[in-house]
Amino acid sequence: MSNFRQLAIDLRRVVSTPCRQLQLRRLSAKGKAPISVLFYHRVADEQPNDWTIPCDLFQEQMEWIRERFDVIDMQEVQRRIRQQDSRRPAVHITFDDGYAENCRFALPYLIRNKMPCTYFVSYGNCVTGDPFPHDVAAGCPLPVNSLDELKALAGTSVEIGYHTRTHCDCGNLITADDFRDEITDGAAEMRAALDMPLRYFAFPYGLPDNIPIAGIQAAYAAGFQGFCSAYGAYNLPGQDAFHIRRIHGDAEMSRFKNWLSFDARKLHQRPEIRYWLPPANNWEQTQELVG
Ligand SMILES: [Zn+2]
Repeated sequence: MSNFRQLAIDLRRVVSTPCRQLQLRRLSAKGKAPISVLFYHRVADEQPNDWTIPCDLFQEQMEWIRERFDVIDMQEVQRRIRQQDSRRPAVHITFDDGYAENCRFALPYLIRNKMPCTYFVSYGNCVTGDPFPHDVAAGCPLPVNSLDELKALAGTSVEIGYHTRTHCDCGNLITADDFRDEITDGAAEMRAALDMPLRYFAFPYGLPDNIPIAGIQAAYAAGFQGFCSAYGAYNLPGQDAFHIRRIHGDAEMSRFKNWLSFDARKLHQRPEIRYWLPPANNWEQTQELVG
């Protein structure tokens, strides 16, 4: 981003702050303050790419958040949405994929500062050690987390979540067996391998086209308490709390602050993902309904 554009974004945010703070105070008084859930991929100083941010910038972003927001876990995100009890601006931190370097700085930082985080991992890559398909396609295969690294997070502020078996685009899955393998069976294997409950699921790529209804139903059947998208939207109290909307942890500090600072225009910028769930949390029943 050019310095001029960055300056323009900062200036607009500062000038509009009093108005936005007033709007936010009104929403907060009614328990309707929007909740932001951030997603990151990789925090490292080596091999930078579009889904990596440097350690010092990550720390700067976390410090900026801690000074201004309640940093809450995913269950509290859902509680505030369901009970329309969001009276203070709040943020939850998530990561996708499972990059080994996150164990060096980002995760120890979050744990040390007791910041709740949901860490979504593609199980098969952690078992085989194979790099993620998007890294291979980009010509930069990067090391992935091992199962032992994930097990070591038990009992910390970092909760493991599930991100399919092979980091597939669920929008390309066709048969019921595909969904079963990538979501239901993979999650069951990962729960057994880690001896941990996996409560949340994040769709790889996370845009509406990557989130088919059969995938949402498979996630529900697999016992997940919620699923995450990644197309940039607030979570609003009173909305469906099974679908958690996420915002990118942008490497540009201006855009990052802009996203997290309340902006009434963003209350209406959200593609809807329409779906329905079967009455029972039961794979066989879901299969009948999916057809
Ligand atoms: Zn991913």
